Amino acid sequence: TRNLQFDTAALTEQDHAHIIHPWIDLGQAKTQDLLIVAESEGAYIYDSDGHRMLDGMGGMWCVQIGYGRNEMAEAIAEQVRRMAYYSPFGKISTPPAIEFATRIAKYAPGDLKHVFFTTGGSTAVDSALRFVQFYFGFTGRPSKQHIITREYAYHGSTYLTASVSGKPADRAYLKFETETVHHLPVPNPYRRPEGMTEAEFCDKCVADLENKILELGPDNVACFIAEPLLASGGVIVPPKGYQRRTLEVCRKYGVLYISDEVVTGFGRLGEIFASEPVFDLVPDIITTAKGLTSGYVPLGAFLVSDRLYDAVTVPEAKGKYFTNGFTYSAHPVSCAAGLKNLDIIERENLCQHVRDIGPYFMKKFRELSDLPLVGDVRGSHLMLCLEFVKDKKTKEPMPAEWNFGNRIINETMPRGLLARPMGHLVVLSPPLIITKAQIDEAADALRGAIKAVT
Ligand code: PLP
Repeated sequence: TRNLQFDTAALTEQDHAHIIHPWIDLGQAKTQDLLIVAESEGAYIYDSDGHRMLDGMGGMWCVQIGYGRNEMAEAIAEQVRRMAYYSPFGKISTPPAIEFATRIAKYAPGDLKHVFFTTGGSTAVDSALRFVQFYFGFTGRPSKQHIITREYAYHGSTYLTASVSGKPADRAYLKFETETVHHLPVPNPYRRPEGMTEAEFCDKCVADLENKILELGPDNVACFIAEPLLASGGVIVPPKGYQRRTLEVCRKYGVLYISDEVVTGFGRLGEIFASEPVFDLVPDIITTAKGLTSGYVPLGAFLVSDRLYDAVTVPEAKGKYFTNGFTYSAHPVSCAAGLKNLDIIERENLCQHVRDIGPYFMKKFRELSDLPLVGDVRGSHLMLCLEFVKDKKTKEPMPAEWNFGNRIINETMPRGLLARPMGHLVVLSPPLIITKAQIDEAADALRGAIKAVT
């Protein structure tokens, strides 16, 4: 613990009076206790009472390099002093944005060499989807309007990205765009039909995509958007070969492939971009955010291929504009932070560290499968999810009102671990710098918490 001078009760009262939190249980919004995160260092955070916890979530899947990096603070301060802000609209640019785009492009698969900077993941995905529409309109195929996505996907919180997201609970309250957006069933091997092998399930999921394209007509389908592993949907690892085979289906019908690497990028799966090295997938567009700056400041981006960018930057495009961008697109301070983040990831070999320690992380948490109600432990590298069920044999899901994930987390916190509850799931995505000893610490805390609750 640390001796901190915060008045937690007063802060809580002010928060209740003035802050609207994303994704809060509104029935308890004005009354519930808060976790006020006040300080942080390495892989740990401290709440306002000074209680230390291992940050099992890396903030929100993003704090790759860990907290409290002085050189990051200096890089940010230096850019603030030199030139805090200029907009990149039109022909204006800034040195950090140019340098950062050049560095990122070197890591991109195939010919994805062109970077459109945004403010975060939602605006990256939103911009990528708009770019696709612009591309097909400009190249004379305006009928290609339809977007294929998947249930349980999460692509963001703008109107368009929420429309292509597919978590049922998030979609309950708004009439999202549905005419041009189509959700395929989730490729979740744990919940595949009984009697089906994983290979057969993969065939089925790939066929789902092909059938949807044929049903809509390939001339009407613009793109397929997919996270290589579905993150917020519950760290769902599609069956082996799924990513590559869905790309082949897209290629066959002239459908563009957007690989949403907002979570999977920047080392979380042991690569800067996981698409090609992990999944043998060279998409047309990659979206990224989160680990791009390790969460120190906001930034997002999409990367697009030579083929697509060259097609819209021909002389005949004179007078045409891709009318999409944000005041804080390519923010120079964020790009400076991104550069320093990459320096640290490279210098400390964090991708290699994740490839080395990932199997240990998975193994330690898979050991929790012996506990009652732990139905599935799944993930890859430093992304992991425990799914709790009412009955391990029948895999009967837990009723939402049990709030099981929350009950578990309420028990892990006093044991020194913060993880993320999502309904009946508990998710982990720690800073990439995590050590074996810290993994043991986290697994012990979670085991103790599960035992206390069940
Ligand atoms: N795409 C994926 C795969 C995500 O997981 C998220 C956020 O969790 C987003 C997009 C949206 O990113 P942001 O919250 O930065 O807008």
